[in-house]
Amino acid sequence: MITTKVFLQELIINPDRLNHLVDEAKEAALQHGLLIRTRETPNSSEVVTYAPFTLFPSPVPKAVLLQALEVQTHFNTLVDRISQDPDFLQEALAGTIQADDFTAKLFRIHRQVQQEGRTQSIVVGLNRSDYMVEPAADGTSSLKQIEINTISAGGFGVTDLLPAVHRHILRSVGLVEESECVHESDRTPQMTAALAKAWELYGQTKAVIMFLVEDVQISQLTHRCIERELWKRNIPVIRRHFEDVSTKGFLDGDKRLFVDGLEVAVVYYRYGYMPDNYTEQSWDARLLMERSLAVKCPDISTHLAGTKKVQQVLARPGVLEKFFPGQPEAVEQIRATFTGLYTLDMGPEGDRAVAMALANPHEFVLKTQREGGGNNYFGEDIVRVLQEFKSDPRRAAYVLMDRIRPRTEENILLRRGLPLRLTSVCYEIGVCGAYVRHEGQMVMNEAVGPILRTKSVEHDDAGLIGGVTVFDTPLII
Ligand code: ADP
Ligand code: MG
Repeated sequence: MITTKVFLQELIINPDRLNHLVDEAKEAALQHGLLIRTRETPNSSEVVTYAPFTLFPSPVPKAVLLQALEVQTHFNTLVDRISQDPDFLQEALAGTIQADDFTAKLFRIHRQVQQEGRTQSIVVGLNRSDYMVEPAADGTSSLKQIEINTISAGGFGVTDLLPAVHRHILRSVGLVEESECVHESDRTPQMTAALAKAWELYGQTKAVIMFLVEDVQISQLTHRCIERELWKRNIPVIRRHFEDVSTKGFLDGDKRLFVDGLEVAVVYYRYGYMPDNYTEQSWDARLLMERSLAVKCPDISTHLAGTKKVQQVLARPGVLEKFFPGQPEAVEQIRATFTGLYTLDMGPEGDRAVAMALANPHEFVLKTQREGGGNNYFGEDIVRVLQEFKSDPRRAAYVLMDRIRPRTEENILLRRGLPLRLTSVCYEIGVCGAYVRHEGQMVMNEAVGPILRTKSVEHDDAGLIGGVTVFDTPLII
C-alpha cells in the first residue's frame, strides 16, 4: 500500500495537479452533501459551503479503532449509572460547584429535580467519547481518552457522507487499494434510532421531539439529517429556542411539557452546554424542561456526568469498580483508555498536583469545566493561571491531565479560505454512543462510529466552529 504521505509529498510540489485534485475533492463534497452554512450567513440557506475536511483520510491502526468501538457500550453504561447516583455526583462535584458558577447552576437544577422526585423513567443518551492515539517507543499505539461529551455531541449528520468523498478522492488518484480501507459508518440512522425509541416508549403518537437549538445555526444541516430520519418514521420534530420554552412552554397537572400547544415527548439539547448559552430566563426554561415528564437527551444528571471533574474522579483507584461490581473486564477495558488525571481540590493531593504542574507544565493540560474547544491551558499558560490561585479554592474549578502526545500525520486541510499547504496534523477519534434506559433496564446500548477530527499540530486546543479542526475518516492500517 503506498502511503498517502508519499503521495502528498509528490502532490505538493506539483501545484497544477494539487489544485485540480482539491477542486475535485470539494466538488465531491458538495455533490455528496457534506455541507455547512457559512460563517458570514449562518442562518441562511441561500449560500452553503463544504464542511471542512482533510484531503485524504488519516491512517488509524485497526486494533485501536476496534478497541475504541468495543469499549463504547461500557462507557454508555458508565455514564448512565453515574447519572443515577446523586451521592456520587454530590461528592465528586462538591469542590467544583464552590468554584465554578456554571456547574453550580446545573447542579442546583439536578438537586431540585432529585428532591421533587424524578418523573420520567425513560432516559436517552447520545454521547461521543474522544481519544487520541499515542505511539509508544516499541512501535505499538495506545488509545487515550480525551473526554466524553454527554450533551449536544456531534459526530454524525452530514459527516456520514465523508467516507464516500474520501473513497472517491483516493480512487481518482489511482489509490484503489487504499480506497478499500476507508472506514465506512452510517452513524445518523443509529443515533436517531435511540431518539425514536425514547419517543415510542413515551407512547403519544401526536407528541413531538423538540430540538433545543441556538439562534446562530451554522450546523443546521446536520440537525436536518437527524430530523429527516425521524420524519421518515413519522415522528414529528420541532425546533425551538430557550426563549420559546420560557414564553410558550408550560407543564400540565401531570407535568407533561407543552410548547406552542404541542406535547413534547423528547427534548433533544443541541445547545445549553456553555454559560453564554443562558440568560436568567433560559435557566428557568431548563429547569422547566428538567422537571417535566418529557424524556431529556440528556437529562441534567447525565449532563453533569460528562464534566471533566467527574472524568478525573473516575480515574481514581476503586471508583470504576463501584460502578461495575463483578465486571472486572469492563473496568479493565475502560481503565485502559485513561491517562493521568489529577484533582485540584483543596488538600494535600491537590497541592501535589499544583507542584507537579508548575515543575513540568509542558507535560500537562489544565482543564476547565467548559465545552466546545479553546478552554484549556497548555505549557507556560498553566504556570500563569495556576500562579494566580494555586493556594485558594478557585483552583477546584479545574482538573489537571497528562498531556497526550498523539501520532502525527501529513495532510492538507480543506476549509474555505484556508491556503493549501502540507500540514503536520493529529487526529482525535470520536466514537458515538447511543442508549435508552426504561424502568431500570437498558433497552438499547450501541457503539456507533467513528468520526475523526483533525487539526494542525501547531494548535494545542481544538474546536470546529472556532476553525481549528476539520472532519476526517479513518483509513484502516
Ligand atoms: P472540550 O470540551 O473543549 O472539547 P477537550 O477535553 O476535548 O475539551 O479538549 C479540547 C482539545 O484540547 C482536545 O480536542 C485536544 O485537541 C486538546 N486536549 C485536551 N486534552 C488533552 C490532553 N490530555 N493531551 C493533549 N491534548 C489535549
Ligand atoms: Mg472535546
